[in-house]
Amino acid sequence: MAATNQFNTHEVNNQPFTLANYNAWLTDIALMEAVAREGAGWAKDHLIEFGARTGGDMMASGFLANENPPKLRAFDSYGRRLDEVEFHPAYHELMTAGVRYGMNNFAWRNENRESAHVARAAVMYLGSQPEAGFGCPMSMSYAAIPALRHTPQIAEKWLPKLLSQQYDPRSLPMEQKLGCTMGMGMTEKQGGSDLRRNTTRATRQEDCTYEIIGHKWFFSAPMCDAHLVLAQSENGLSCFLVPRFRPDGTKNAVRIQRLKDKLGDWANASSEVEFHGAFGELVGVEGRGIATIIEMVALTRLDCMIGSAAQMRQAIVQAIHHTSQREAFGKLLIDQPIMRNVIADLALESEAALALTMRIARAVGMIESDPHEAALARIATAIGKYWICKRTPVLINEAQECLGGNGYVEENIMPRLYRQAPLNSIWEGSGNVQCLDVLRALNKEPETRDALFAELQK
Ligand SMILES: Cc1cc2nc3c(=O)[nH]c(=O)nc-3n(C[C@H](O)[C@H](O)[C@H](O)COP(=O)(O)OP(=O)(O)OC[C@H]3O[C@@H](n4cnc5c(N)ncnc54)[C@H](O)[C@@H]3O)c2cc1C
Repeated sequence: MAATNQFNTHEVNNQPFTLANYNAWLTDIALMEAVAREGAGWAKDHLIEFGARTGGDMMASGFLANENPPKLRAFDSYGRRLDEVEFHPAYHELMTAGVRYGMNNFAWRNENRESAHVARAAVMYLGSQPEAGFGCPMSMSYAAIPALRHTPQIAEKWLPKLLSQQYDPRSLPMEQKLGCTMGMGMTEKQGGSDLRRNTTRATRQEDCTYEIIGHKWFFSAPMCDAHLVLAQSENGLSCFLVPRFRPDGTKNAVRIQRLKDKLGDWANASSEVEFHGAFGELVGVEGRGIATIIEMVALTRLDCMIGSAAQMRQAIVQAIHHTSQREAFGKLLIDQPIMRNVIADLALESEAALALTMRIARAVGMIESDPHEAALARIATAIGKYWICKRTPVLINEAQECLGGNGYVEENIMPRLYRQAPLNSIWEGSGNVQCLDVLRALNKEPETRDALFAELQK
């Protein structure tokens, strides 16, 4: 949109131009270095292409998707149940780009290549900068795959759709779709961290499928084609795949009660649901639900680090852009010594968050092949998730201050970044839970302590 500086009353000067159409990969030396250092340099061309999108058209989609949040259509106009969520086209554009470039699956599509999880972490890092909310279904779809592999007949059916490069928002049974996404349902009203309190029940049927009755208090991205859901069965807490449609093509009995009215994360729908005898298939072994889903949680925790590091990066990009164009007291802000210190501190912390994230992404990709990396991934994911996610709101507020009053106004991305920032520290295990997990690893899995200190020695 062309803008003019000339008003009848004054001329606009000393206001920066809106940052638009930059390549988020080519302008990020720390990212390029981290990807090369951790062995995923082969993905460069892919990342250049995606970086042009994430610093370009996806920025505008991010604003639109947040200004027009999802709406629940629980019923049609004649009172029949619909259980659909309607999204603005901008959200679908973000999802289309995210799936095309593999925020949800790039590592799995390139499993035979070195450091595929580092490459995918870079994709996720770029994609989370223009808008963070749609990262939720992207992350859960990425993370569901190791859990699904516990049950080969389920993996065989779902993996080709989860590995697709096509986003298909149509409300149809998965067999008819070009690509699928997947979510997770663990948290209930009476307990989120303490999942043993889950009361949702799963009853085995004659055909070995399960009927699920109960609820979930948080159930994000309810338009995903299936969710991995924890429920109590005869042998204890177990993990079930609950698709949106039953095998006969009718809608599964997953009733969306309402959408959460959230502090931030507005582009993403988070819901409360009830299962009214929903169809489910067992994933993994009955009674081992937490062990099955914990593999998914390990990857979503990595994604909390990636998402928060990306929000830090976007905040510092905006702060540098602004302070490089705005003058006060005779100098560009960025040339004022104390502002330079602030920006340097922000850059240092943002790059450190990225370096740690990428190192852990490499370890995560080597869990099966290298015991040191497996032990490091086990303990460092909890440490990194705790620290980076906790630091993000503080860092974003400092970056916001660099923009002065403009940093508090919604036409700018900063208020949205600030609202989003606390989410990753709560989701997938809040601070204390991560600390307890680190203690558990140190006390019960001595190899994690050895791996951590060996790494720190370097
Ligand atoms: C926007 C959003 C989307 C979400 N989407 C999903 C989703 O899709 N699927 C899903 O399953 N969940 C989802 N969640 C839920 C989220 O994962 C939980 O809120 C989180 O795990 C914490 O659980 P809780 O809310 O029950 O809090 P609680 O478990 O009650 O914890 C409250 C506090 O107590 C602390 N605490 C817990 N145990 C201990 C202890 N032993 N000692 C000391 N302190 C402790 C915790 O660290 C936390 O700070 C979502 C949450 C949000 C905000």
